Amino acid sequence: LLQLSVPLNYLGMVYRQVKQALINIERMFGLLAEAREVEDAPDAPPLAVRGGEVRFEQVDFAYDAARPILRGVDFRIPAGHTLAVVGTTGAGKSTLARLLFRFYDVGGGRITIDGQDIREVRQDSLRAAIGIVPQDTVLFNDTIYYNIAYGRPDASREEIFAAARAAHVHAFIESLPQGYETTVGERGLKLSGGEKQRVAIARTLLKNPAILVFDEATSALDTRTEKIIQGELAEIAEHRTTLIIAHRLSTIVHADQILVLEHGRVVERGTHEQLLAERGRYAHLWNLQQREQSPAVEETAVQV
Ligand code: ATP
Repeated sequence: LLQLSVPLNYLGMVYRQVKQALINIERMFGLLAEAREVEDAPDAPPLAVRGGEVRFEQVDFAYDAARPILRGVDFRIPAGHTLAVVGTTGAGKSTLARLLFRFYDVGGGRITIDGQDIREVRQDSLRAAIGIVPQDTVLFNDTIYYNIAYGRPDASREEIFAAARAAHVHAFIESLPQGYETTVGERGLKLSGGEKQRVAIARTLLKNPAILVFDEATSALDTRTEKIIQGELAEIAEHRTTLIIAHRLSTIVHADQILVLEHGRVVERGTHEQLLAERGRYAHLWNLQQREQSPAVEETAVQV
């Protein structure tokens, strides 16, 4: 009986890990069970990642045919560059990330990575090339160690510590009575939004992907945490092709290119300075956010 129960336990563990991984990815993208199946083409080769150049070529997309979400979206992120997408809620920003990860196929146009249409390569290789720091990181009910190692299960302890250091979360973990063995998640220690996001950053650093997608949290972090995370983001984005789905414009001032998306169309594009000079939608959003952050407004808010 003992001999049998060991492999069964092991299988149970593998099953649990696979299931949790699927749940995590689905939640990460806010996907529901209705998500359409996307299949590998027969004999699809793996994606050959060179620099990690990402192109959207005249991409159209609709979750249901009656309601177009993206219309003729066209952009290129040269290898190692950062592109940020801003726009009103529901404009289709997160949809771009879901399409890049190929949770859905485009309705028109195509998406390529280093010149290869993502529909023509194996999905596992595509997803291995892209690291995602989601809006709301869902941690597994497991140790912090496991949660970071999930980025690359064969990583050594040293590599895991190095990733945690780079994500500025190592000292925090070491300060916990059980250190890396602390159980987190819904049934364990509840981490703050900033701490969770750092665990997600450590996980992504360990995966070391050529392409990085950062879906900025909509929920406000405190200003100090936000500043720290911005700095960390700049560090991990270096030498990687990065797509930032931005909610706060302060995060993306240094992006190589900014797209403003409205009702699924790109209505403006340029650097922060160029867009301010245009005095269009972006400049308007920027002025609004600056006003929100000014102390005078905060004082008024307190008095009210
Ligand atoms: P936010 O800034 O609020 O996160 P967003 O620009 O990222 O918004 P998306 O999440 O890309 O917006 O959604 C674009 C539109 O697509 C929304 O109107 C949304 O309701 C719709 N949508 C998103 N996911 C689905 C889905 N699985 N099925 C049908 N419609 C969806």
